[in-house]
Amino acid sequence: MKANMRYTVKQFHADFPNDDVCLDTIFENRYGDVKFCPKCAAETKFYRVKGRKCYACKHCGYQLHPLAQTIFHKSETPLTSWFYAIYLFSVSKNGVSAKELERHLGVTYKTPHRMARQIRKLMADGGDILTGEVEVDETYIGGTRKMAQKFNNKSVVFGMVERNGVAKSIHVKSSGSRVLLPVIVKGVSPDASIHSDEWRAYKGLTKLGYSHTTVNHSKLEYVRGLAHTNTIEGYWSQLKRSIDGTYHSVSPKYLQHYLDEFSFRYNLRDVAVYPVLLEQAAKRV
Ligand SMILES: [Zn+2]
Repeated sequence: MKANMRYTVKQFHADFPNDDVCLDTIFENRYGDVKFCPKCAAETKFYRVKGRKCYACKHCGYQLHPLAQTIFHKSETPLTSWFYAIYLFSVSKNGVSAKELERHLGVTYKTPHRMARQIRKLMADGGDILTGEVEVDETYIGGTRKMAQKFNNKSVVFGMVERNGVAKSIHVKSSGSRVLLPVIVKGVSPDASIHSDEWRAYKGLTKLGYSHTTVNHSKLEYVRGLAHTNTIEGYWSQLKRSIDGTYHSVSPKYLQHYLDEFSFRYNLRDVAVYPVLLEQAAKRV
């Protein structure tokens, strides 16, 4: 399914009409087509145990519990509501607030907050190592670098973006080299070419073995051949629009979850998000 083929809410309800279908989907995503029983080793089929959220081997009765350790574990919310909530996250451009979930699902009190938090876990950074032409930059949520240094109350976000590829951003303590360089080493392949502005924290990159070019924004230099940071600047402006548009502000405590959610959408901009989220949902969290 391509991103431009819209998965409508009507199709969604047709595909997932009840909790049994949802449970079967989770079972298939988690275990695939189980041909041999992990317990009795016989060639087998697993059948749904009536009235319970598990499946049993037709020979020995060994049970598989597809919801164990997933975001659905021990939840009393119907699976159809969970699936619908995940659907809403998948079609939304900027995220779904607990208030919206409350309205759409008719769930109240702590449930929508808990569901939103759990669904965001599905969008956690998968640990990709960035390669090729990689742009790095820092930004300040709610202020500027100067303000962050002076008032020490702005959240510093460090971003790394592959040109025509994936991105990640991390809520960091400061924009100093001792903080940023280890993050780059962990997230960017040694054979990548890194592009940044002239912020002094990046000066150590060549010593670390990276090919590194800079543009001097303070001298109004923005592009010099391959040296530019236009990609990550586009990424930042989308991120800031998204925070302003949906959540208005994000508390530092939840900022990393929000950044992961934003990058997840950015990274899947050319594919359908819903099947990816359902696959993630069948995994342990
Ligand atoms: Zn068996």
